[in-house]
Order: sequence, then C-alpha cells, then structure tokens
Amino acid sequence: MTPPLPPHLFDSHLHTPLCNHAAGHPREYAQAALDLGLGGVCFTDHIPMPEWFDAPWRMKRGQLGEYVQMVQDTRREFEGRLSVRLGLEADFHPGTEAYVREVLDEYPWDYVIGSVHYLGAWGFDNPEFKDEYRRRDLAALYRDYYALVEAAARSELFDSIGHLDLPKKFGDLDPDGMAALHALDVIALHHLSLDFNTAGWRKPVAEAYPAPDLVRAAAARGITFVLGSDAHAPGEVGWRFAEAVKGIHDVGGAVVTYAGRERVSAS
Ligand SMILES: [Zn+2]
Ligand SMILES: [Zn+2]
Repeated sequence: MTPPLPPHLFDSHLHTPLCNHAAGHPREYAQAALDLGLGGVCFTDHIPMPEWFDAPWRMKRGQLGEYVQMVQDTRREFEGRLSVRLGLEADFHPGTEAYVREVLDEYPWDYVIGSVHYLGAWGFDNPEFKDEYRRRDLAALYRDYYALVEAAARSELFDSIGHLDLPKKFGDLDPDGMAALHALDVIALHHLSLDFNTAGWRKPVAEAYPAPDLVRAAAARGITFVLGSDAHAPGEVGWRFAEAVKGIHDVGGAVVTYAGRERVSAS
C-alpha cells in the first residue's frame, strides 16, 4: 500500500516540449501537480548547450526566452494555488563550463541541476546506445562517471547533482561503489543537494536515483534531497513521491527545495 502524500511537496524536475522529447504544456504539468496536492513545481528543462553538443535533445539558445516566458505565464496562471519556479537541468560536460555560466547569468533561475549524461561522446543514458555497456568495463565506467560528477560538484555551477547513479538505468549496476562514496564526500564538501529522481522506478533498473544505500550514505554526510519526477509528460508529475519521502526520512535525510538559488527547508 502506498503511504499518503505529505502536503506542500514540490516536484523540482520537470521538462517541457521545448526539449523535443517531452509532451504537454507546462500548464498541464502544473495542473497535474495541483491535482496531486503538491505545493509547487520547478520546471528544469534541459539547458541549451553549444550547437555541437547533443542538439536534438534540447531547446536552442534562441528559445531560452520563450522557455522563461512560458514558465512565468504558468506562474501567473496558478498564482495563489501552486508555486511555480524557474529552473534548468544543466549538463556538466568538461569544456562547456563557460557556456553554461553565460546561460545561468542570463535569467533569475530558482534552481539548477547539474547532470552528467555523457562519457566522452557516448550519451550513456540514451536507449539507442545502450549496447555500448556490453563493451565496457563497468567498474571503470563508474569510476570515470563519478570523476565527472565530482568535477560538476567542484564547478560551483549547480545546486544539486541530477540522478546520481544514472549509469544503472538499463540494469548495469556499479560493481564496486567506492567511487560513488567518494563523490558523495565531494558533493557534501561543496554543499550541493541530490536530485531524488523517481524516474528510475520507470526504467529497466526499477530503482529510484540514487539507490537506497547511497541515499543512506548521503544523509549520513548531511546531504539534502530535492524531489523530482523527471517528468517528460504531465502524467509523470509527482510519480511515487510518497515512497520517495519515506525512503529519505527513514534514513534521516531531509527534503528541501530551492528558490532564487537558495536552499529552502521543506515543511
Ligand atoms: Zn529529457
Ligand atoms: Zn537528466
């Protein structure tokens, strides 16, 4: 049986059709959140990146204003009923930090997730390219991945790390775990939160990001959690949030949100 949803939760990882792989107007995501009894939403669509990087899966730089406008219109529409915040899911990819900083300086973001989706030229979370896992040494893969996560944490560009243990998406679990714990030390040192991302429950691995033992290890380091469904459709908003909150609270973790790039304690 699923526990009831605690009040005033935010879903702080939501996409929009501007990224070319999500459906539904932000208004429909907001309405879904309202129907579930959430307190608010923060849109975090995929950040524009240099044109050579992963172009089909994100808005173009010239669409950034349209994105901000769409979220602000939704905020006005739901005023007094639901908080609507403006964020981004940014990519951490070495060499693009200056570009990302330019985008982050352009608008008053509430919350910025830093996600690693690429190892070199390989988009390792793309189902089209998942065969590549068969050719890789998983321990080395996770070491390389968490080294990038640590660099993301040290970059000081982001408020949280997105879907921490993402390479497990298709079931390729970390055979070691030491690199993940080291990354958590760096994340704690730089005072970042973790995106508690319930989309993992919809993927072949059938486990939220991060895994329960990493949630425990993060909570023990004082790292806070930001709830996100990573919805690419309105029906995914708030997906399994009651279980998420229980999993975090059971290990002594805290759920927070961000406004104006500052951590806000959830009620
Ligand atoms: Zn996406
Ligand atoms: Zn992501």
